[in-house]
Amino acid sequence: MTDTTTVVNPATEAPLAEVPRRGVEETDETVARSLAAGPGWRAVAPADRARLLRRFAALVEEQGEDLAQLETANVGKAIGDSRDEVGMAAEVLYFYAGAVDKHRGATVPVAGGVDMTFHEPLGVVAAVVPWNFPIAITSWKVGPALATGNTIVVKPAEITPLTALRLAELALDAGIPEGVLQVVPGRGSVVGTRLVEHPDVAKVAFTGSTEVGREVMSRASGTVKRVTLELGGKSASVVFADADLERAAAATPGGVFANAGQDCCARSRVLVQRTVLERFLELLTDAVAQWTVGDPTDPAVKMGPLVTAAHRRVVEGFLAPGMGVPGGGAVEVFATGSVPEGPGFWFPPTVVAPADPGWRMAREEIFGPVAAVIPFDDEEDAVRLANDTPYGLSGSIWTGDGARALRMARAVHSGNLSVNSHSSVRVQTSFGGMKQSGFGRELGLEALASYSDVKNVFVSTDD
Ligand code: NDP
Repeated sequence: MTDTTTVVNPATEAPLAEVPRRGVEETDETVARSLAAGPGWRAVAPADRARLLRRFAALVEEQGEDLAQLETANVGKAIGDSRDEVGMAAEVLYFYAGAVDKHRGATVPVAGGVDMTFHEPLGVVAAVVPWNFPIAITSWKVGPALATGNTIVVKPAEITPLTALRLAELALDAGIPEGVLQVVPGRGSVVGTRLVEHPDVAKVAFTGSTEVGREVMSRASGTVKRVTLELGGKSASVVFADADLERAAAATPGGVFANAGQDCCARSRVLVQRTVLERFLELLTDAVAQWTVGDPTDPAVKMGPLVTAAHRRVVEGFLAPGMGVPGGGAVEVFATGSVPEGPGFWFPPTVVAPADPGWRMAREEIFGPVAAVIPFDDEEDAVRLANDTPYGLSGSIWTGDGARALRMARAVHSGNLSVNSHSSVRVQTSFGGMKQSGFGRELGLEALASYSDVKNVFVSTDD
């Protein structure tokens, strides 16, 4: 009998699908097919490879609504978010289709001959993808990997494999040859580990927790694999007294509660200058009240449930008495929203204010809709608090002073910052972490570098 995972709808707790849970042997067979498909894929002329990727992108667009409904059913995310993420996946494929014949080498002035560089594909790439943005993050890895001539094996999170499996079908429909893009559903501890250790896998592109990222890096060392790691975050949104407070407060729920807070870029620390704390909290309370939670298929809803009951228990744990609060007391909830009754892994948007920067909820990645509002005194204090974390992925700076915005943007140790905005991710711009949020860059033209090796060739012109 085939071993399967029951994939569940987090909003209804109803089973959605039974998906085979692949083992080591099947993973090895998949890698062997990927390796065998490599020479053929590399031989496809660049303009034709670009054409195939464009056709793939067009199919993702055409199937957009079905893919978005599937993502919402599997992850519980608001349908508006799923539509945006599927749209982004198509845009990513178009972007990298356009990059196929623009990722050029160089000629280098040297004595005695001509020196040139080539960007060579790595071979078989393994993409290990988490459950929070399944289709979007899959596309971030598939697009540049295929554009640069690699073949790719995707391991989706065991609980959210549905859109990745559909993507692989669409790639075939687009005419991308068999074996070039494959998806192996299964457990991280089985399929993921095998891919990371497999001698024929040249690179692992991992997104997930810092804990597993460390393990991936360590296991990959056995075969000196290339590794890129996009890991956790504890990002800060820094609100200065000179900011447009109405705008900053109105945007704050989107910065931390989007995708029910299950976002590595969630601004789960909201640092507010003490002189405007009271006013900001008033405005934030109104904004939280408008953050609608409910049936994620309803386009008016901004937030669905958490992904599993087990994950909800983890999130609840951050607010339980004794969780890092001196004396063992409970954290004080300042504002909270409401959630539907009945089945579903619901958790309300929650604001804790004022929070102490030493509390566990202010230090660890919660991955739930919980914001810790922390007061600060001046710019120096804001920089100190923003950087007081082992992570460095994202963040926002809210100020009306352009010079301060630039000073802060340079001083905060984070891979992606936005000024007077909560946006982190764009197809055209690089995305990735500093410190323990990982290394390597996804998206933008920068991603191409981590899916290729530079080869240097010197040709003597001596007689
Ligand atoms: P994980 O890091 O465990 O999972 C991410 C991916 O890695 C999944 O596909 C998982 O497979 C796979 N994986 C797990 N173990 C291994 C392994 N030993 N070798 C290779 N691959 C492996 O994240 P979780 O889903 O467990 O989430 C836990 C926490 O991590 C969250 O609460 C959050 O704090 C953080 N996180 C951060 C993300 C980010 O975007 N930076 C994304 C997801 C989580 P499988 O799921 O099948 O076990």
